[in-house]
Amino acid sequence: MNAMTFRRCHLFENLEKMSVPVFCAVALALATPVFADGLSSAEQAIVRHVDARREAAIELLARSVNIASATENHDGVRRIGELYAAELQALGFETRWIDQRAEVGRAGHLVAERRGTGGKRLLLIGHLDTVLQGEPFRREGNRGHGSGASDMKGGNAILIEALRALHAEGALDNRQVIVIFTGDEEDTGKPYDVSRAALVEAAKRSDIALAFEGYEPGTAVVGRRGFSSWHLEVTGSQGHSSTIFGDERGAGAIFEAARILNAFYEQLREPYLTFNPSVIVGGTDVTYDPATFGGTARGKTNVVPPRVVVEGDMRFLSRDQLNRAREKMRAIVAGNLPQASASISFIDGMPSMEPTDGNRALLAVIDQVSRDLGDGPLVAHDPSKRGAGDISFVATLVSGLDGLGALGKQEHAPGEYADLDTLPILTKRAALLMYRLMWPQ
Ligand SMILES: [Zn+2]
Repeated sequence: MNAMTFRRCHLFENLEKMSVPVFCAVALALATPVFADGLSSAEQAIVRHVDARREAAIELLARSVNIASATENHDGVRRIGELYAAELQALGFETRWIDQRAEVGRAGHLVAERRGTGGKRLLLIGHLDTVLQGEPFRREGNRGHGSGASDMKGGNAILIEALRALHAEGALDNRQVIVIFTGDEEDTGKPYDVSRAALVEAAKRSDIALAFEGYEPGTAVVGRRGFSSWHLEVTGSQGHSSTIFGDERGAGAIFEAARILNAFYEQLREPYLTFNPSVIVGGTDVTYDPATFGGTARGKTNVVPPRVVVEGDMRFLSRDQLNRAREKMRAIVAGNLPQASASISFIDGMPSMEPTDGNRALLAVIDQVSRDLGDGPLVAHDPSKRGAGDISFVATLVSGLDGLGALGKQEHAPGEYADLDTLPILTKRAALLMYRLMWPQ
């Protein structure tokens, strides 16, 4: 039994919730000095493969950035899918295209798969589409500029190059790896159960999901918030303003709406939960169109208003938190002022990625990889700072990590770039994370 064996068993116990950590923790302390650089010979070979591809990886990024692929550009999304399909076929993957144009009005997804029975079964997640398009690849010093260079063609390049290094070392042999590049992450097709069916199906056949959205220095993502929308309808008794507060007229719809929103503000707030009333219309004659989030209101100062409509969103870290918040909102809405009534309805948006113990165990693995590579520790990214992503759709099915992609800036904006100097270290980190998951010792 070598030193790496001791180290890995400590980490894998966490992952599989087995119960002999003391032995391994002691062994870890004893084992550490044996490998000064922290890497086995196979791992060192994987690192060398990544280093040898330094310029080639940037070329792959450049080629992908130069294929314009905004979500609505179905041809472009399909063509970048073809580029990645060819890369993955060369690494022994079978690929297929899942067309989504007829079902949800989106280009579709690339699915690539290698089959095997050893180690953890990995699901790797990237996306083909970008928010903006049309800015070609331009290299300036350590920056690779262009539409989607960071979000997430840089992450896709890291994913593919990590697999290439593993393949070169035979580390994909008899291992199941499914890669999904979705074609509509930036503007996800609806309904979600159709547009994310392939992702969910792949997760059901996998143990761990790794997603390659942008890297935030020193962190990995173990949790992402989800979102839901809410719609509040308030009615009151219309009449002369001089009769407000009377038995017959009561409070009017606008006071009732104000009561409800203030109670939300006072009573609902807790860590990782936010709720935002984003549009409100109220008065005597009110129109509201949920499709455009727009409406009109008219009234007179001498009339008690009969109607208010409020539309908002909420962000949450777990389904449980969402359900508790909805319960409280319903109770607040039900406590009406005189002669007023109100109802609230909710529409599910993207689910959350709850920070589970399984996710934290994966963080421990990549933290150790990062230290062994001499790149310092990694901690959990603050979930309140990260919106929903594709990994959220599979977060209840498998343990996962996100934020394994490129270091960049200006995402979703002109001037977007990926930092080219950090591509190799991020690729090595991803490759060794996958290696230790697929080849537990
Ligand atoms: Zn993205």
